[in-house]
Amino acid sequence: MIRYDKNSLKAEEFINDGEILDSLKFADENKNNLELVDKIIEKARLKKGINHREASVLLACEDKERIKEIYNLARQIKKDFYGDRIVMFAPLYLSNYCVNGCVYCPYHAKNKHICRKKLTQDEVRKEVIALQDMGHKRLAIEAGEDPVNNPIEYILDCIKTIYSVNHRNGAIRRVNVNIAATTVENYKKLKEAGIGTYILFQETYNKKSYEQLHPTGPKHNYNYHTEAMDRAMQGGIDDVGIGVLFGLELYRYELAGLLMHAEHLEAVHGVGPHTISVPRIKAADDINPDDFDNGIDDETFAKIVAIIRIAVPYTGMIISTRESESVRKKVLELGISQISGGSRTSVGGYDEPESEEENSAQFDVSDNRSLDEVVRWLMNLGYIPSFCTACYREGRTGDRFMSLCKSGQIQNCCHPNALMTLEEYLVDYASNDTRNVGQKLIEQELEKIPNEKVRTIAKEHIFDIRNNNKRDF
Ligand code: SAM
Repeated sequence: MIRYDKNSLKAEEFINDGEILDSLKFADENKNNLELVDKIIEKARLKKGINHREASVLLACEDKERIKEIYNLARQIKKDFYGDRIVMFAPLYLSNYCVNGCVYCPYHAKNKHICRKKLTQDEVRKEVIALQDMGHKRLAIEAGEDPVNNPIEYILDCIKTIYSVNHRNGAIRRVNVNIAATTVENYKKLKEAGIGTYILFQETYNKKSYEQLHPTGPKHNYNYHTEAMDRAMQGGIDDVGIGVLFGLELYRYELAGLLMHAEHLEAVHGVGPHTISVPRIKAADDINPDDFDNGIDDETFAKIVAIIRIAVPYTGMIISTRESESVRKKVLELGISQISGGSRTSVGGYDEPESEEENSAQFDVSDNRSLDEVVRWLMNLGYIPSFCTACYREGRTGDRFMSLCKSGQIQNCCHPNALMTLEEYLVDYASNDTRNVGQKLIEQELEKIPNEKVRTIAKEHIFDIRNNNKRDF
């Protein structure tokens, strides 16, 4: 079994190819060892997680009864740690200029016909206003890697602009950042700019494949990319989001790598990843997902989500509009805690949807519904869409967030906060239909707050939001 060494932040040590292959071999040898599978499921029932080796066995196991148990446990853990709350966010594409050669991404430098765009600060403002008009409070900014067109100063300017726009009760309260791996110095600057989570997908943990899939540009450097989260944490960012792009490599390899990465971060920095994203490759400008051999079907995808949920109960899980409504519905109950809504993956696409000819989008979106439709759909499924960013704004990030989560106390503060931010959304932005569904739901949910004092305060605040134009409690 691998030991994570606090003094070694070298990629090849914490994402050890030999250890991953050994875990997969162990999983193959034990996938029908139902005694062991049951033991792992029993361990998972303690809700303290399981390691990459144990997760690999569950992923390899094909016993129908056991898979059902895994799904039921994932549902239970999801309910216990996150309740019915689903955090809402939207991606904001700043620039698709990119010097890398990633073979699965239409932003690759050799793509000469995609429309290259970079938002000016005025355009950023317009995008934010359009997003605020929809009701968003939490964004994930996205950009290609290009030191000349998108240097860190540009990203910092954009963050400043985003936080400065306050339109229709609408300040963006949390900006998460998905930009290429960078230096400790730059991570410090991002921290100072007040970012939420720093997100970087590993794409694949398999070094050989990684180098082939990223043949040119700074992203080719596997070690630099893989060690980025350690640099981010050294730079003071304590919420980091990891993920792989499913379809590039064998999914069993990726799950083991992903969990080893989480184990490494927890062992070395005392806090695991804040979120895990599970994107799958999508069709895009000159990209055909069928050109990649490792695509996974919806059932396998659901199983991966369920196993991540039980392996790292305290880590949020994100699903984007890459997935369809039906897939999103299935994985929401198995472990997803954050979803995007009303997303545009083109640069400048919120203020002015673009024509087909000027396509600047990163990938085709499978869920094209508006935020209002997604919010109503979630509520009709019994979820509470949450626009809450209180933890981040109160400084409850990193280990402070994790210890709150582990203590079980998160339920007592998150539930009323979610209801209050939902009420704000309903009053300020929702259609009549959505508001009616939502306000009924809020009335029912208020009664579920166990602590009487908290329940009374939440009711007063909801009353004030609805009737006295008060906000942001
Ligand atoms: N440029 C940054 C970097 O290098 O990490 C990140 C920004 S990129 C806009 C965000 C993510 O989109 C990538 O990390 C990749 O996983 C994903 N992506 C790229 N091409 C995709 C495709 N064809 N389908 C689905 N996701 C894709």
